[in-house]
Amino acid sequence: MVFSDLGRRLNAALGELSKSDVVNDEVVDGVLKSICKALLESDVNVRLVQELRGNIKKRINVKSLPAGPNGKRVVQKAVFDELCDLLDPKTQAFTPKKGRPNVIMFVGLQGSGKTTTCTKLALYYQRRGFKSCLVAADTFRAGAFDQLKQNALKARIPFYGSYTEADPVVVAQTGVDKFKKERFDIIIVDTSGRHQQEKELFNEMIEISEAVRPNQTIMVLDASIGQAAESQSRAFKESANFGAVIVTKLDGHAKGGGALSAVAATKTPIIFIGTGEHINDLERFSPRSFISKLLG
Ligand code: GDP
Repeated sequence: MVFSDLGRRLNAALGELSKSDVVNDEVVDGVLKSICKALLESDVNVRLVQELRGNIKKRINVKSLPAGPNGKRVVQKAVFDELCDLLDPKTQAFTPKKGRPNVIMFVGLQGSGKTTTCTKLALYYQRRGFKSCLVAADTFRAGAFDQLKQNALKARIPFYGSYTEADPVVVAQTGVDKFKKERFDIIIVDTSGRHQQEKELFNEMIEISEAVRPNQTIMVLDASIGQAAESQSRAFKESANFGAVIVTKLDGHAKGGGALSAVAATKTPIIFIGTGEHINDLERFSPRSFISKLLG
């Protein structure tokens, strides 16, 4: 089931409750069954779905529910709150401040949307009055620098990269030092990815991180990878110890639930979602407003 259908399915499940004359165990179990089925079909991890179901049941004591609409409201609120909790690791992400350099390093597998998202984020901050720039430290993928350069030129964001230096650590360090001297507020470092999680990639990320000492490391996670999101984010967490996640390609065709709920596994907040290929397709993420929107 594609992600855009999830909201419709969750609403339909809650609709069963509204239509029912009574709120008893049978009705609540039916609603929960439909909700869990919809989440599983959106790729949310089965363990998390079971946990969610148990937590909702714990929150609502069916026997002591008030009669009529108030009882239904208790059930609806419990479902809403637990869906929010599923996406909320309850830790605060780093917030950049103006007037000082904020170094933000991106990590993620090749094709996840790193380079695109770097520019989106630089532009996001630039529009909010931060002096933003980009450092292209992906020396592994042929054409990565050109891609970043093109995006940066289009968005009018200063950038640094090299056609001759093959060592990404040197490129990253040189770029960050240069922009720090020029008093940029937001310095975003794009690093290379690989098709798979490889030791070399993780070593490279650690070396770049030690060289530029980022204030924030963001992992870019492709929503379309489904259930694999959990193991991928765990592996990156161990080596890159990222403090925030941006989930890309959540524009309707992806299942999405796997990547979104992977935050629960790594206890890391999602800060933005990518909703398209265009430079403006980046949205701030907060669990409560996301779930509100999903449920319409
Ligand atoms: P990288 O290898 O991780 O740097 O990935 P790229 O930035 O080159 O992106 C890979 C592909 O994903 C490109 O075709 C992007 O246009 C596309 N892409 C990135 N973010 C999104 C998104 O949020 N939605 C969609 N639909 N495509 C995206």
